[in-house]
Amino acid sequence: MADGGPLALGYDIGGTNIRAIPVASTGPVGEWTHVRRPDRPELMLDAIVGLWRRAAEQHDIAAIGVGCAGVVDCSGVVRTSPNIAMLSHYPMRELVAAATGLPVAVDNDATAAAWAEASVPGRWVDNLALVTFGTGIGGGFVLDGRLYRGASGFAGEIGHMTVVAGGILCVCRRRGCWERYASGSALGHQARDAVAAGRAPTVLAAAGGETRAVQGEHVLRLAAAGDPVAEGLVAEHARWIALGLDSLANLLDPSVFVLGGGVSEAGETFRAAVEAAYHHAVVDREARGPAEIRLSQYGDRAGAVGAGLVALDLLGG
Ligand SMILES: [Zn+2]
Repeated sequence: MADGGPLALGYDIGGTNIRAIPVASTGPVGEWTHVRRPDRPELMLDAIVGLWRRAAEQHDIAAIGVGCAGVVDCSGVVRTSPNIAMLSHYPMRELVAAATGLPVAVDNDATAAAWAEASVPGRWVDNLALVTFGTGIGGGFVLDGRLYRGASGFAGEIGHMTVVAGGILCVCRRRGCWERYASGSALGHQARDAVAAGRAPTVLAAAGGETRAVQGEHVLRLAAAGDPVAEGLVAEHARWIALGLDSLANLLDPSVFVLGGGVSEAGETFRAAVEAAYHHAVVDREARGPAEIRLSQYGDRAGAVGAGLVALDLLGG
């Protein structure tokens, strides 16, 4: 045991792989192990238990935490998962606890990730909002020092806050949701629109001359290299992000926003653009200074690390 305390095994249930990492109260210990996600739900438990057995050969695992994309209720049942259709009404906590005999915590991955980001040793934050930018937008909140799950465990579905009445149609079948304007895939849409209008030749070139191939990553990479057209697209996208962050700040008053998800891998280019747009959005608010904007400390490990930390809390210190 790295720090003399108990260890949990934190899981990330992804669309392609199931990954696990040992977690101490101070954070991750060691590296990921993973298996390909099985195609059938009856094999899911075997895959999860297999990773636990492997970890238990090297570590004394005292609890299990599972971070899962999708809607996870307070009893540890995965109601729906966007990438894994078979995880519908899947009683994750009950099954894993019965198979391992250990205390098990199951949370939405962004909810768990918020707990990890608030619990970085030496940088504890009592009021934090984690916002993940990828295909959609996810969120997780730590409020007054506690992980916030809501009445049913469904809090943090912030990608579906309406920011444009009657706006772009969303996967949730409503219009004008924040993630249609501010997610990573929205940046790709905005870039393709700019290319189609002849406003972004450098972006088109970066995508091999194929408009349909233009993605947000092309724009972020060019912006990092100082391309002015790409910088303009990133700034426009950041204004959409700031619009939602400003609403979250009014609602929750966090001291820190953590930016996570695939888009945040663009690093300082992305963070600085969001910070500039956000500071501009809050410039007239005298009572509250703008929250700090940070990049995720744990990156793609945040959900599993946070789930592991929640599981350690089940041990009662
Ligand atoms: Zn929506």
